[in-house]
Amino acid sequence: MKKCIYVFACFILFALLLTSCVPMDATSYPESTVNSQQESSSFETDSNPDNSKETETSISQTSEVESEESLVNLKKYMKLHFIDVGQGDAIFIELPNKQCMLVDAGDTTSGTLVVNYIKNLGYTSIDYFVATHPHTDHIGGLPAIFNAFQVKSIYMPNASNATSAYQNMMSVISNEKLTPITVMDGIYIIKTYNLQIEFLAPNSNNYENLNNYSAVIKITFENNIFLLMGDAEELSESEITDNVQADVVKVGYHGGATASTQNFVTHVSPKYAIISVGKNNTFGHPSADVIARWENSGATVYRTDLYGTIVVTSDGLNIDVESMTNTD
Ligand SMILES: [Zn+2]
Repeated sequence: MKKCIYVFACFILFALLLTSCVPMDATSYPESTVNSQQESSSFETDSNPDNSKETETSISQTSEVESEESLVNLKKYMKLHFIDVGQGDAIFIELPNKQCMLVDAGDTTSGTLVVNYIKNLGYTSIDYFVATHPHTDHIGGLPAIFNAFQVKSIYMPNASNATSAYQNMMSVISNEKLTPITVMDGIYIIKTYNLQIEFLAPNSNNYENLNNYSAVIKITFENNIFLLMGDAEELSESEITDNVQADVVKVGYHGGATASTQNFVTHVSPKYAIISVGKNNTFGHPSADVIARWENSGATVYRTDLYGTIVVTSDGLNIDVESMTNTD
C-alpha cells in the first residue's frame, strides 16, 4: 500500500513539473525583451533595415502588458520647433536619438526668448548648433545660447560679416575653445540608417550675396524628410543637385521674392511649408507670389507671424503640425 501511495505521489509531482514548463516555452518573454533593448540602444549604429519589424512582430505575440511596456521603449519622435522670434530664424530640433540641435538663434533681442523656450523643454546642453549664415537675424541670439547651455559643436559656412553680431559670435566661440565645422554640400552631421542630417549647400566659396552662403539642411528620419533653407536665394537653389523632395520645408529667406523659384518649389513639393517671418516687417516678407507657389505645389503654408511658434512632430512616418495661434 505504501508503495502505491509513493508511486502515485511521484506521478502527481511529474505531472505538475510538466504543466509548469508549458507557459515558459509558449511565451518566449526573454527573446522579446532582448529585441526591444537592442532596438532602443542601437539606434545610431543600426544597419539592419528589418530590425524594427522583427521587434514589433515578436512583441505582438507576448502578453498585453509586456507589449505596452516595450512599445513605449520603441517609440521615437522627432520634434522641430519653429520658434516665433519675429523677423529671423530659430529652429530647435529634438532628435529621435535623444540629442538636440539648434538652427540659428534669432536676432540679438531674441536670445533670452530662445533660451527660455529650450530650457522649458528640459534641455541643458545643445549637441549641434548650426549658424546658417552670419546675418544678425540668425546669429544675434547666439551669445545668450552659449551663456545658458553647453554647446558641443558648431557648424557654419565659410563667410564673415562686418557687424558687431558677427564679432560677438566669433569671440564667444573662441572663448569656448570650439572649432567651427565648415559646412558645404556633402557634409553630414549624422549618417545612420534611421536618421541622416546633411548639408546640401553652400556649393561655392564665393558669393556676392551673404544669403547664398546659407547652410541648407536636409534631415531624413525614416520615411520623413525635412528641408531647412536658411536664407538661401535663387542662385543657391539653382546649384543644389541633390534630391530636395521633402515633407516639410522651412522656406528660404523668410518667404522673400528672391527665393523659392518655381522650379525649386516644384522639386520640393512638400506637404507643409513653414515661413519664419516677423509681423509687419520692413522687408515686405513674405511675398504673395511665393506663398502662392508653395500652395499651388500642394503645400499647406504656416507663418510664424500669423500662427506664432509652430511645432512639427514626426514618428518617422506621420507628421503632425501644431501652432500657437497669435491672439493679437
Ligand atoms: Zn534672415
